[in-house]
Amino acid sequence: MARCYIIFGVEEVVRYTYRLRPGAQAVRALETEWHRCRFLWNEAVHQQRTGQASTFSHLSKMLTEARARTPWLRDGSQVAQQQTLRTYAQALDHSFKVKGRGRPTVKRRRTCLPSLEYTTRGFGIAHGKLTLPKGVSIPVVWSRVLPSPPSSVRVYRDSLGHWYASFVVRREVKPAPAAFGAIGIDWGVCATATTTSPAHDLPYAGHRRRCAAELARAQRKMSRRRRPKGQVQSNGYQQARREAARLHKKAARQNTHAARVWARRVVADHQVIAVEDFKPKFLARSTMARKAADAAIGAAKRELIERATRAGRKVVKVAPAYTTMTCASCGARAKQRLALQVRIFSCEDCGHTADRDRNAAAVILAATVELDRAGADDVRHCGPPSGAVSGAVRAGNPPASAVGKG
Ligand SMILES: [Zn+2]
Repeated sequence: MARCYIIFGVEEVVRYTYRLRPGAQAVRALETEWHRCRFLWNEAVHQQRTGQASTFSHLSKMLTEARARTPWLRDGSQVAQQQTLRTYAQALDHSFKVKGRGRPTVKRRRTCLPSLEYTTRGFGIAHGKLTLPKGVSIPVVWSRVLPSPPSSVRVYRDSLGHWYASFVVRREVKPAPAAFGAIGIDWGVCATATTTSPAHDLPYAGHRRRCAAELARAQRKMSRRRRPKGQVQSNGYQQARREAARLHKKAARQNTHAARVWARRVVADHQVIAVEDFKPKFLARSTMARKAADAAIGAAKRELIERATRAGRKVVKVAPAYTTMTCASCGARAKQRLALQVRIFSCEDCGHTADRDRNAAAVILAATVELDRAGADDVRHCGPPSGAVSGAVRAGNPPASAVGKG
């Protein structure tokens, strides 16, 4: 798994993640370390709530004093503890900058999964093992070679109880081959992505739906074994919970894999990529099948935007309003919303008929051509298409704003 976040000229900073195989002793050490860090995080939350200064320098000073007083804290790694506070300070800072973003909250023992961060000072790699402070050493499954010595590592556990190490490394940027052409993409339930180029459609594989029966069985087992609130849950319950989590994860991985393969192909063949800016939360409170389709769309959109941005393609997000009601041929907007079961769009003005989703994809692409402003390969937002947009497309001419800039 490589997730890119910064690009410097010829090198990019990415994360490389590997599975860890910690023994019982290492697991115990990691968990104890996590509880110390969690305690510090919660202290910082408390400070912020009671109106005390909670910048990183203040928290760092507080940590030094607390470590001098408390042997329990001193037993843990200073690097991991400082990183926890640094992450907290960043999260707090971010919550002030982004409107509507809640402040960081308390991390509870029962609901929060362990996650520890170490910088170069706090970890090493020796004899194929990850070494952490206080003599903890953990075998790593080296599924691929690290491209450079890592500058930091995040050690975390997922809901299945598997441990991972995610290293921050630098690697060379391989420039993407030039591509021409533009594509419009509409997300949907029947096909995850319908595009203006039928060869680039992404059919809905239904990974989640396929394991829905198994998942339902695991969830029934969970509810049968669940003890009243406040009591410690039984081993049988935990087993059923892990089984359900495993099925969820399996489907999510299959979705991500399908999305990656698809996104790679779309990005390789197109310079301009116009996507419907789909917000899954509108559908989230509906049937299981809908939720499954939502998850597939989310994965596909994420992978596409990330890959395209990295390859220097131009990505435009188009607001989904009216895309299914507008005619891609003449630009007329229907007066009424197309019912979901109507799969064919037919225009009342010009008689153009097309597959509902294919029409929407064409409208999305047309909106992008219209609102094309000067160059750049960043992710942009643009509004719903207007009648004028498709009018220009119908005439077969690129809109005035696009001329001389492409
Ligand atoms: Zn029409």
